[in-house]
Amino acid sequence: MRTMTAARITALAAAALLIGCSSTDDAGRGGTAPGAAGKTVKVSLAPTQGRSVHGELTLASAGTGVRITGKVDGLTPGSEHGFHIHEKGDCSAPDASSAGGHFNPASTPHGNPDGGAHHAGDIRNLVADGGGVANVDVIVEGVSIGGQNDVLGRAVVVHEAPDDYTSQPAGNSGTRIACGVIPASG
Ligand code: ZN
Repeated sequence: MRTMTAARITALAAAALLIGCSSTDDAGRGGTAPGAAGKTVKVSLAPTQGRSVHGELTLASAGTGVRITGKVDGLTPGSEHGFHIHEKGDCSAPDASSAGGHFNPASTPHGNPDGGAHHAGDIRNLVADGGGVANVDVIVEGVSIGGQNDVLGRAVVVHEAPDDYTSQPAGNSGTRIACGVIPASG
């Protein structure tokens, strides 16, 4: 009898622990915001006026960040390009200025996403191979699909020049050459 009771308490404790883990996990990945169920969204990059850069990206929840994978083509072979999440999901302007500035929910300076102060939307530069294609596989820490620092309804932008990770407010990466809206619901 004593043994059975103890076993039962253990089982209940284990169940409670599982429930606890699962809700913590949800909170860490952005909770249950509408559209976040799949936690994966597709983004198509289209060229700005006079450009020919295209891309297809997939954004997926990855631990405490969002993993971006895919391909950008139509770049100059061997070139390097600023690559950021911008605050507004609007690529309608011919120069994509409608996408606004870098996504910066913490009002920090622009910088290197690998260390030090930087915008939530700062990402390492794209690097094109000899065929003018950049293969993307990068994790952007501190943002989410749904939940805190939500990237849904924002935009991904490719710039003409490399980001120097230092100049304010945008790393001196120049003109916007491609833009894609991150759908507002995933
Ligand atoms: Zn920035």
